[in-house]
Order: sequence, then structure tokens, then C-alpha cells
Amino acid sequence: MKAIQIKAHGGPEALVLAELAVPEPAPNQVLVRIEAAGVNFIDVYHRTGLYTVNLPYVPGQEAAGTVETVGEEVTGLAAGDRVAWAGVAGAYAEYACVPAEKLVKLPEHVDCEQGAAAMLQGMTAHYLAHDTYPLKRGDTALVHAAAGGVGLLLVQMARLRGARVLATAGSARKAELARKAGADEVILYNEKDFVAEVKRLTGGKGVQVVYDSVGQATFLKSLDCLAPRGMMVTFGQSSGKIPPFDTGLLAARGSLFLTRPTLWHYIADRPSLLARAGELFDWIGAGKLFLYISQVLPLEQAAEAHRLLEGRQTMGKLLLSPA
Ligand code: NDP
Repeated sequence: MKAIQIKAHGGPEALVLAELAVPEPAPNQVLVRIEAAGVNFIDVYHRTGLYTVNLPYVPGQEAAGTVETVGEEVTGLAAGDRVAWAGVAGAYAEYACVPAEKLVKLPEHVDCEQGAAAMLQGMTAHYLAHDTYPLKRGDTALVHAAAGGVGLLLVQMARLRGARVLATAGSARKAELARKAGADEVILYNEKDFVAEVKRLTGGKGVQVVYDSVGQATFLKSLDCLAPRGMMVTFGQSSGKIPPFDTGLLAARGSLFLTRPTLWHYIADRPSLLARAGELFDWIGAGKLFLYISQVLPLEQAAEAHRLLEGRQTMGKLLLSPA
């Protein structure tokens, strides 16, 4: 089968097309023929070595496809079922063996591209808006990189929960998309000081929560956007890792809360996984959540996909197709 492999950490050129044997499902595993794989920033961190993986490594943490065969002891899944997953490596390939407990069945109304586009970033937006800081009517949230993969879904979920959303975006085109997703205000943070804008838009009060996927470039300034006892949710680092910082800053800025959550702890058990994915699929079916798939590139162009993502050239979701 075709697969993308990393043999040594490095730039996008470290993603090399390889010919590998189709894997055999072990007990409790399922062999899936992949139809679409999601490209996520975590794949970049696995490629560069920021997050540790054993080499050689087939990247990709998210995909959807059709069950080919099931291993011993698998129940409830059969050849031909359409499934999706997040959080198991090996999605940049034609086939992958996935533990059955990590798979969710796709309902009729969700195709494989939508399934691959919804899982990782959708469940992330879901736990951020519902559990890390459960948004409610009357809250104002600041969402950074609002036209990005997580950002665009988070804006929509924040609005579904009744919050007012202030968003940041890196270009006018991105701002337009964030507005279409429901952002009440969009700040072009490369052109304007977003702290001053947030203060202006909240009458000096600040916001109840900042959802920050950008990291180094926005972290400290985001603390200045919060109302007293507000919550700073730093969940990513697309601009680089946040250096160690003095927790006294949290006291000085109003007894702030700080958390650095990760999806895996919010889908650690099967009921949480099924509930989050199920709600996403219901919203897609009901027309409450739109998925913006900006590009589907052939698997062979994985390096180009990483260049686009790291170069701030993407909006919404980027997929790879092994077909
Ligand atoms: P995005 O689609 O948001 O892409 C990154 C965006 O970040 C860019 O388009 C750009 O938007 C913005 N950005 C700002 N500064 C930079 C920079 N220097 N270099 C590159 N991009 C920059 O990516 P994802 O939604 O996939 O992920 C965003 C972050 O969230 C990643 O760090 C990812 O690992 C993390 N994440 C964390 C999860 C968790 O559970 N903790 C789960 C999922 C993702 P603009 O031009 O508008 O500034």
C-alpha cells in the first residue's frame, strides 16, 4: 500500500512516499481502507520531533474510511461499515489497523470526507466550549485563529451555546469566513492590537475566556484580554511553544485561571468519544454545524499540505486522499 513515512525528523521534505505491506488486524483491531485523512498541526509536531514518536513513523491522527476486515474478538463492526477515528497514528496511508474501541460509525448523512474533517478538530472544539470552559449566554469569548481548523468549529459551537464571540484572523478573507461562522466581531490581529480591540469591544471589561491555539505570539497578550477570574485556555502553539512563565502574572491580572488541555483526556473513555462524535454528527445532519473543507490533496502531496498549514495558507480543514 501507499503510505507517507517519516524516517528522520525535519521539514516537510521529511514526509516521504513509501510502499508498505497492508497491515493485518490483531485481536480487537479493525483494518480500515482509508478514504480521507485529516491534516492537523499535531502531524507537524510529530514530523519535526517536537512531540516524541518512534521512527520510522506513518503520521496522521485522523481519518475515515470503510472496514475491510476485523480482527478476533471485534464485535459490532463488519466489513463495509463506514467509520472514522482520531488519536491513532497511521492515517497518511491507504490502510490502517485501528483499535475497535477508537472507531465510531459514520451515520448515513456524513460522508467520509466530512467524517475525517469533523473528528479531531470538531471534538476539540466540542470539549473546549462544553467542558474546559462551559460557555453560557452572557459570556464573551475570544477565539484566536478563528478561520483555522479548530477555530472555525469553535466559533460555531460558542454561538450555539449562546456566547458572544470576538475572533482574531490573519487576513481579510479569513475574517470573512470567521464572520460567516458566526463571529460577532473579527479583529485582524496582524494589523491591530487585539488587546486594545478587545477592551474597546467589551467596554473595558474583558472577556470571560480566551481560547488560544496560537501560543507564543499571543499568550501573554491574551492574559490582558481577560476579565477578573477569567479563564485562559491555551490549547495549541501554531506560532511556537510558550516559554516558562511566572504564575504571579495570573494574580496580578485578576486571579485568572489557566489550563492547558488536550483532546485525549476528554475522549479517554468510550462514552465520551461516542457522545462528542455523535453530537457533532447530529449537528451536521441538522445543518447547525458547517464543515469547511478548503482542499483535498492527493496523499502524495502530504509535504505540500504541511507547507500550506505551517505557512498560514489554510482555512478550515485540509484533507489528504489516498485514492
Ligand atoms: P489551524 O487551522 O488553526 O492553523 C494554524 C493557524 O494558526 C494559521 O492558519 C494561522 O491563522 C494561525 N497562526 C498564527 N501564527 C502562526 C504561525 N506563526 N505559524 C502558523 N500559523 C499561525 O490549525 P489547527 O486548528 O489544526 O491547530 C491549531 C493549534 O491547536 C495547533 O497548535 C494544534 O496542535 C492545536 N490543537 C490542540 C488540540 C488540543 O486538544 N489541545 C487539538 C487540536 C489542535 P491566522 O492566519 O488567522 O493567524
